[in-house]
Amino acid sequence: MPKDNNAAVRSHRLSDEEIARNFSDMHPPLPRSEALIEADRCYFCFDAPCTTACPTGIDIPGFIQKIRSDNIVGSAHTILRENIMGGMCARVCPTEVLCEEACVRNTHEDKPVNIGLLQRYATDPVFEDNVGLFERGTDSGKRVAVIGGGPAGLSCAHRLSMLGHSSVVFNRDEKLGGLNEYGIAAYKTVNDFAQREVEYILSIGGIEVRNKAVLGENFTLADLQDEYDAVFLGFGLGSVNDLDLANENISGVLNAVDYIAELRQADDKGDLPVGDHIVVIGGGMTAIDIAAQTKRLGAEHVDIVYRRGPDEMGASRYEQEFAQTSGVKIRHWAKPVKLLISDKVAGVEFERTTLDKDGKLTGTGEHYSLNADVVFKAIGQSLSEEALGSITGTLELQHGKIVTDDGRKTSLPGIWAGGDCVYGNDDLTVSAVQDGKIAAIAIDQYLREESNNG
Ligand SMILES: Cc1cc2nc3c(=O)[nH]c(=O)nc-3n(C[C@H](O)[C@H](O)[C@H](O)COP(=O)(O)OP(=O)(O)OC[C@H]3O[C@@H](n4cnc5c(N)ncnc54)[C@H](O)[C@@H]3O)c2cc1C
Ligand code: SF4
Repeated sequence: MPKDNNAAVRSHRLSDEEIARNFSDMHPPLPRSEALIEADRCYFCFDAPCTTACPTGIDIPGFIQKIRSDNIVGSAHTILRENIMGGMCARVCPTEVLCEEACVRNTHEDKPVNIGLLQRYATDPVFEDNVGLFERGTDSGKRVAVIGGGPAGLSCAHRLSMLGHSSVVFNRDEKLGGLNEYGIAAYKTVNDFAQREVEYILSIGGIEVRNKAVLGENFTLADLQDEYDAVFLGFGLGSVNDLDLANENISGVLNAVDYIAELRQADDKGDLPVGDHIVVIGGGMTAIDIAAQTKRLGAEHVDIVYRRGPDEMGASRYEQEFAQTSGVKIRHWAKPVKLLISDKVAGVEFERTTLDKDGKLTGTGEHYSLNADVVFKAIGQSLSEEALGSITGTLELQHGKIVTDDGRKTSLPGIWAGGDCVYGNDDLTVSAVQDGKIAAIAIDQYLREESNNG
């Protein structure tokens, strides 16, 4: 975001100490004594519902049992063999709607086992001490091109390595990690954990990385099909959806995702210019994250405006409450109809919304306005036209995303896909990791069949 001399939009609103406090680790790690008490709360259920609820199928009672017997490396292995990003997922998974929602302790005492923090307790030492838990499989001589170095791409590359195949990761950004590095809220992943995890994943060997290599700009899919035995597409969602309002390009109207990336990469978070009155339009995790983070940078007033009710928001109730306790106001049932402007954005006019008799969202005709010196767009992302445009052949899409079968194979021969770019994915780190893993297993099967037939 360009620096702005307008007094309403300025940097260093808070002291360095306040910013450090506001962006410190959201869920600090458990000390051993507390981890053991928490592990003791687990009933070690047969057919554990928490495991079923985990998109990567981690044996949760199994890893908790190992914590109880102080077998931390064994516990980490149980987690990471299913989810190589189990360290990041321990920090960022919305456990309140996944494993912890399913935990039977909820019905007994209204409080699940704190699976997320136990997972972090088990995995942190492995990343701190770089304990190698996985080995590269016997070299198959096969090479796979992986487009995208986010959770989906890295998970795929790591599993391919375990299965004996080499991969080359082509990644648009300067660093690997995808939204783990550029998107996740700063207080969820402190101390450069995303890069430590990337290094750990690469340490298995057999994964070559080419950063700043962009599909659609530097090469096409056809180039890769000629050179590699299979291709995995894990390029996420490259474009941000527009509000479709007049004057949307005016100064002060920003993409939440770009600002969050700047915040994540800033050496001094206080350098980022922040407005007095911020309006965020959207209802997902990105809306919550931009709102909570700008509030924690010192914005006076931050409003999230969402066109439907709290139950329909993409962000969980827990995330909504987190934003509210950070000082963010969430306004439901209104849609933006007009940007109010002077020489830059000055506010947004909204129309209240409701559901008609057929359950369709409709405007009520009643309007109100909010002042804003910065408006953030956070109404979702879509596939990058550039990347899609470079793909020849009929790649089946639904609602603008790539369609795959259960093994994450696309409609194009020899091409698999996973993560946010795939239709039906729920846009979570853990689901992207699972997609990468499933695709790698399917690619392995395909490559072995090819070898046997050829
Ligand atoms: C602001 C924000 C906050 C979030 N917070 C959470 C959270 O707290 N918890 C959670 O579980 N999920 C969260 N998510 C969702 C989660 O980050 C994503 O679901 C996950 O990162 C998807 O992984 P991916 O690998 O599919 O894509 P990405 O993480 O987007 O990675 C895509 C990779 O592809 C590369 N790429 C893109 N285009 C090209 C191209 N043309 N050529 C080559 N490479 C390319 C990029 O450089 C990038 O490295 C959040 C998302 C956002 C936007
Ligand atoms: S559901 Fe809860 S109590 Fe049961 S195994 Fe999972 S974490 Fe333990």
